Amino acid sequence: MKPQDLVRPEILALEAYPVPSSDGMVKLDAMENPYTLPEDLRRELAAVLARVDVNRYPTPSPQKLRDAIARRMGVPRGMEVLLGNGSDELIQILITALARPGAALMYPSPTFVMYSMGATFSGMKAVAVPLREDFSLDAEAFIARMKAENPALVFIAYPNNPTGVLYPEEDVVSIIRACKGLVVLDEAYHVFARKSFLPRLAEFDNLVVIRTVSKLGLAGIRLGYLIGRPEWVAQLDKVRPPYNVSVLTQAAALFMLERLDVLEEQAARIRSERDNLGNGLKGLAGVAVFPSEANFLLIRVPDAERTYAALKQQNVLVRNLSPGLKNCLRVTVGTPDENRILLTALREALP
Ligand code: PMP
Repeated sequence: MKPQDLVRPEILALEAYPVPSSDGMVKLDAMENPYTLPEDLRRELAAVLARVDVNRYPTPSPQKLRDAIARRMGVPRGMEVLLGNGSDELIQILITALARPGAALMYPSPTFVMYSMGATFSGMKAVAVPLREDFSLDAEAFIARMKAENPALVFIAYPNNPTGVLYPEEDVVSIIRACKGLVVLDEAYHVFARKSFLPRLAEFDNLVVIRTVSKLGLAGIRLGYLIGRPEWVAQLDKVRPPYNVSVLTQAAALFMLERLDVLEEQAARIRSERDNLGNGLKGLAGVAVFPSEANFLLIRVPDAERTYAALKQQNVLVRNLSPGLKNCLRVTVGTPDENRILLTALREALP
């Protein structure tokens, strides 16, 4: 028997989400926070984790952790929190719940690939609406397309990955107002953009926000959270695998939510390093830098394939977005040292 005879053709046609090996590399490809936890916190966390009963299944929908998130992350009164194994899982849950036969999922493109991959997994029609040349959002064109396609689900990354662009708030509002389906605002990079729709959630009955602790510095624990009206969360919760957030994740998240200042201070350093790195990149002949509100920068170089390979040769791993985004590389903001290494390597790598 061959998998080819049984696996759905659209899955056979997919490429798995690419995660290249990064052993010993300066890792600037995945929008991680480059700073580890301070030594004293690591020791305290170890003690907390040592007390966790790993023989027991996790509490399925841990009230304590949801309350702590609501309190620390500014979740408005009356809104509920749904937890996911990363926001990747929340994207999957949303799509699974709304994938009625023939339903469409729409998003400005290019954007985070898991939206279109999720549509494929669930048999939804994916409608990618192109951004303008400079990666800004043409809200009018988007709304016109929405009227034609009538999507059940719209994903907007705010700010966007891989471009770093934060769309104007009023454009997003006009899309939410014009949409007859559910709009998901993906605020994965909110700590860097410091803009959020959480305070405006109550204005719309067709809006949920998803977030993650990944970019804040906890990518390894895999925790995402969705914030929305109780009636949305009640339906989505049925699709959530019962034990999706592990006991270790729950304990680590509770511990870190009481020490958010450490991660917020790291995020502030990343924001100011983003400006330094941006200026350094702009100083390189042949490099165009797109403005970014996230913890990464999109750059255009004369030959992305060659530059990517030359950087890799020098042990610097970035993300090559070519040929989809012609001659574009996405570089995560690292520590000052890592950014210096990147700039030096780029100087060598450019033709
Ligand atoms: N949304 C966006 C826009 C992202 O860029 C990412 C990660 N690259 C995610 C969601 C997923 O984050 P996680 O699963 O780590 O929470």
